[in-house]
Amino acid sequence: MTDTTSLSTPTDFVAACRDAIGAAHVLTDAADTAAYLTDWRHRYTGTACAVLRPGTTDEVAALVRLAATHRVGLVPQGGNTGLAGGATPDTSGKTAVLSLTRLNRIRSLDVHNNTITVEAGVVLADVQARARDAGRLFPLSLAAEGSCTIGGNLATNAGGTGVLRYGNARELCLGLEVVTPQGEIWDGLRGLRKDNTGYDLRDLYIGAEGTLGIITAAVLKLHPQPAARLTSLAALASPQAALDLFALAERYSGPLLTAFELMSDFCLQLVGKHFSQLRYPFDGQHAQVVLIELSDSESEAHARSLFERMMEEALETGLVEDAVVAESLAQSRAFWDLREHIPLAQAEEGLNIKHDIGVPISRIGAFIEETDAAIAAAAPGARMVTFGHLGDGNLHYNVQTPEGGDPKAFLAQYQAALNRIVYDSVHRHGGSISAEHGLGQLKIDDAARYKSPVELTLMRAIKSALDPLSLMNPGKVLR
Ligand code: FAD
Repeated sequence: MTDTTSLSTPTDFVAACRDAIGAAHVLTDAADTAAYLTDWRHRYTGTACAVLRPGTTDEVAALVRLAATHRVGLVPQGGNTGLAGGATPDTSGKTAVLSLTRLNRIRSLDVHNNTITVEAGVVLADVQARARDAGRLFPLSLAAEGSCTIGGNLATNAGGTGVLRYGNARELCLGLEVVTPQGEIWDGLRGLRKDNTGYDLRDLYIGAEGTLGIITAAVLKLHPQPAARLTSLAALASPQAALDLFALAERYSGPLLTAFELMSDFCLQLVGKHFSQLRYPFDGQHAQVVLIELSDSESEAHARSLFERMMEEALETGLVEDAVVAESLAQSRAFWDLREHIPLAQAEEGLNIKHDIGVPISRIGAFIEETDAAIAAAAPGARMVTFGHLGDGNLHYNVQTPEGGDPKAFLAQYQAALNRIVYDSVHRHGGSISAEHGLGQLKIDDAARYKSPVELTLMRAIKSALDPLSLMNPGKVLR
């Protein structure tokens, strides 16, 4: 290969990309590129020499080879709903965004193997719908499912509301097709549940946030559609009571238990304040509310009788203060709406500090108690917005400005200190500073602080072995 790097400019690269995939799919005008250059939370805005929109795996490979030749970094992007700034380029203008959204074909569905093979740019909701049409369930589910893509889901190892029963994106993927940083295509589209033939490359690319190569297609696992779903809310006095109820729910319902979501009273107050059409489901006020969902392969009556027996015990022993079961699909939707409107209500209330943390389930009560106290001491009046996937040990542990306070001034004064308090506490409890959203560019320094030198050295060794020119999503995950 001729070394064109010393002569090459971004303009040469962009011209070569136009030749490779057609000028219509190489965007450079500010009006066309703007939406690709800012992240969903509007926290980061970058610049890029171009936004590239290939339509096939071969075109992706051709662009990656051009990027290597011209030494141009590539920032893969799917639906751009990521919450860690991973899909946003830096401000150098020397990288290009590689949008995968035109790779949007469902290649095949194998009912007997319970698998679906889709390209990276297929929107998650479209995979769910195609599976449903075939009488199957693709259980990955999150509030951004109408716009996030399978490539992004796998690159971030997305979680969501079905993890308790079905696992996160990693557990739902059997095989991958990947374009390597050298522009070669690795066809690992195997639909196998068992395959012990050496290093697991698939698992290396899942969760790598685009820093090791470009995912272009995947074989995903399907599950049977449940015959019925039962959604309920239970009111409790404390996070520890919620943990005890979780243990009880697991004992009664085993694999039928598909969601166990915690919401503090303040979360629901915020939802009520900003979305008054969403009704608080209990007469009195309660410190904590959990949303429980059972998915039953037998019938709704079966799920209901199981739930009622469980609640009888929980009410008798004083574990639960009150409980309500959805009587219709609309009511079930209303319960989920309460849960899903918490981040939106927080945004309405004003700027806030977000933490997406994981701790062992058994530590959740102690973590919340200790960390709430440390935050109250450091930033008096700060309001805690604590909710999340309790059954996965994953909390959205967010801090809202004191009532009537100035959010900008609060963040400027307290953000760094409060992040430190939360992450130190997470670390002490054996947890993770990013349970779902990844590191992106948001948490690189925090990750470097809490990961051991051995782990960081191994991660760097993998990165430099696979991507020696460091052109795959530069500046993300690792410095
Ligand atoms: P993008 O945002 O485009 O990219 C995310 C990362 O993946 C970037 O680093 C990007 O470079 C990389 N990437 C994208 N496509 C590829 C590819 N084909 N090959 C290699 N790398 C690639 N996340 C959860 O885990 N659980 C939730 O419950 C959840 N809820 C959310 C709710 C809302 C309202 C929003 C806005 C986001 C939520 N998220 C959640 C975060 C986000 O939706 C997920 O991370 C999602 O998986 C990202 O998919 P995407 O296609 O938008 O990826």
